[in-house]
Amino acid sequence: MELVSACLAGVACRYNGACRTDRALAARAASGDLLPVCPELLGGLSLPRPPSEIRGGAGAEVLDGKARVVSRDGADLTAAFLKGAQAVLDLARSVAARDAFLAARSPSCGVGEVHDGGFSGGLIPGDGVAAALLARNGIHLVAVGKPKTAATGLFAPTQPGLRLARKSDAADLARLAAQLGYPSEAEALAPRLAMYSADQGKAIIVAEEDGRVVGWASLELVELLISERHVEISALVVDEERRNRGIGGRILAEAQAWAESRGARLLRVRSNVVRQGAHRFYEAQGFARTKESYTFEKPVGRGESQR
Ligand code: SF4
Repeated sequence: MELVSACLAGVACRYNGACRTDRALAARAASGDLLPVCPELLGGLSLPRPPSEIRGGAGAEVLDGKARVVSRDGADLTAAFLKGAQAVLDLARSVAARDAFLAARSPSCGVGEVHDGGFSGGLIPGDGVAAALLARNGIHLVAVGKPKTAATGLFAPTQPGLRLARKSDAADLARLAAQLGYPSEAEALAPRLAMYSADQGKAIIVAEEDGRVVGWASLELVELLISERHVEISALVVDEERRNRGIGGRILAEAQAWAESRGARLLRVRSNVVRQGAHRFYEAQGFARTKESYTFEKPVGRGESQR
């Protein structure tokens, strides 16, 4: 069983006594597939209640004692939010939940962005208090409700010069893909890039220097019946003119942060046996060589008829 913010499941538990029903999630909750939880009610807050925001950071900073949750009328509600977050984590453990579908931008449930504490609609990157605690304990967060900040998305690289890929990067990504041995046209790559932007289980992290993309990595969250949730680095390339300057290592560090934000405990990369330089690079970055294998391919569908 997985968790869902109770207001998404049709429970009128928002600060103003309303709900944010998501019909598909509510149906899953009604069938017993999802467990509705409201961290703020579990923390002992009343209904209705004044709206609250985090001041001084996001949920992670609240967990670390570096930020506070305050109501619009100035009351410090940090203790109640921490109590509610712990209650949600306890419930998640009791049902062995692996995923949590959470309402966007809430100071408890927000994933990837929360209000900035000014009560004026401003947003900052980060998770709500309960969401941050769940993520720290390996639970995969799924934001429900469109993020307002498209540039920030649900994950914001923190290192200067690194960011998530944009639609306008298609030509640069194609140019570097060719250096990796995968000649690509920007037109063919653009719809795949859009797919990565829309899917919270995928990401493309790019490195930029002098206004130009000089490296990128594509990441996929993988969940298999036979293995733990992990993140696969399906491609990583640095412009051949900018290699050996730490760009690849910085992209990998951000890939690790993205993997952790998705509740993964393992990063995996496959590298062709002939790429000896790449093998040395990954080992220098802390990756261990685990096995050698062959890849078998068979064209199917239209690919088969074109042989
Ligand atoms: S704390 Fe979470 S579940 Fe409760 S009302 Fe807010 S967003 Fe919904």
